[in-house]
Amino acid sequence: MSTAGNRTFAIIKPDAVRAGNIGNIIQRINDHGFKIRAMKLMHMTREVAGGFYAVHRERPFFGELVDFMTSGPCVVLALEKDNAVQAWRDLMGPTDSTKAPKGTIRGDFGTSVGENASHGSDSEENAKIELSYFFNATEFC
Ligand code: GDP
Repeated sequence: MSTAGNRTFAIIKPDAVRAGNIGNIIQRINDHGFKIRAMKLMHMTREVAGGFYAVHRERPFFGELVDFMTSGPCVVLALEKDNAVQAWRDLMGPTDSTKAPKGTIRGDFGTSVGENASHGSDSEENAKIELSYFFNATEFC
């Protein structure tokens, strides 16, 4: 049986939703052997987006980041696979979409360093924190 240690938190960001890429990104999630354990479409408030990215509060791009993340609906997901945190970050590619290789989600569906189509937790500890920020225990399947 899988444990929470094999889960990561992912977002299909507003740019990718706007561009009609929810299906394309979910296809890659399936193709790479992740199980979806929770998923919902949501339009974040500034409070929710600001709280999620609180670690970046002092960064010069924080305002732009909150503007972007509240610019339209996104899809939040719990993904499960062995080494899910690293496997999902590998599939997304590096933060800056203009430097992300083709074949990665950010390389294929992102357009800039900010508008990069997807989010993934950067550690198992943060995955647990981020999953519980967006999902109640009853929402996991
Ligand atoms: P990640 O872990 O790869 O998502 O990267 P970070 O934790 O460094 O940054 C969080 C998010 O902030 C990124 O995914 C981008 O959407 C955004 N971001 C990072 N750097 C910049 C920047 O220089 N400008 C803008 N506008 N957004 C940025």
